[in-house]
Amino acid sequence: MSFDRTKWTVPFTTDRATSWPCPRCEEGTLVPVKKSFTAEDTAESRKNSAHEAWEPDWNKGRFAGRLVCTRTECAESVVVCGDTSVVQDGFDPEEGPTYTTELHPVFFHPALPLFRVPPTCTEKVRAELNRAWALYWLDSASCANRVRTCVELVLTHLKVPRFRRTQTNRRIMLRLHDRIELFKQRDAELAQALMAVKWIGNIGSHEGGAGGMGRDDVLNGLELLEYVLVEVFEQRSKRLARMGKQIVKRKGRPKRS
Ligand SMILES: [Zn+2]
Repeated sequence: MSFDRTKWTVPFTTDRATSWPCPRCEEGTLVPVKKSFTAEDTAESRKNSAHEAWEPDWNKGRFAGRLVCTRTECAESVVVCGDTSVVQDGFDPEEGPTYTTELHPVFFHPALPLFRVPPTCTEKVRAELNRAWALYWLDSASCANRVRTCVELVLTHLKVPRFRRTQTNRRIMLRLHDRIELFKQRDAELAQALMAVKWIGNIGSHEGGAGGMGRDDVLNGLELLEYVLVEVFEQRSKRLARMGKQIVKRKGRPKRS
């Protein structure tokens, strides 16, 4: 599955929603239940509407609504809430400009999976990923922080030491950076991806708040993490290299069972 960024960055309307994956079955997509959506202007927006220069696209509001999985055997229900804005979407020669209300999610429950997780991934990594996904819409920096924790958990799964012994036999916790350096001796390419995710997570940890980093940075981190998880839990490169080698050896002849 390619990492489609427009799904995770573009606002939606009740008529034109992104085909978000269902958090329960992961196969169906979610569609808005139109009648469940409600929206109200913010207090500030109501006040501004009295202004003489007021235009419809000054309007700001808040919304809440429900989405449902399209697979009838699943039909999972997901709630969403967030902010609204009004944008011009066309021009009518008689009526003038036409407008539409766009919805900007800040929260989904249950959290939407931003990518497919390998089925063999450990529960600990999966649980941390779920936390990252829940925070993605609300607070990019906190999301990046969770992504960084996933890197720690993946290294622990790969049996990369968490501690080192001093000369006096004291146990000292290794920094994430040093753990990745240790892992580099085993797999330089994967270590490079882990290091990149770590740097993105670092910005999240140190800058605090949502202002420190953008969604694009977090999506870079998530895309790299997806690659790491596929390599670690499905060993795709190694598996494909092995398969290629066998096919060449058999000169393309079908495998005898
Ligand atoms: Zn579903």
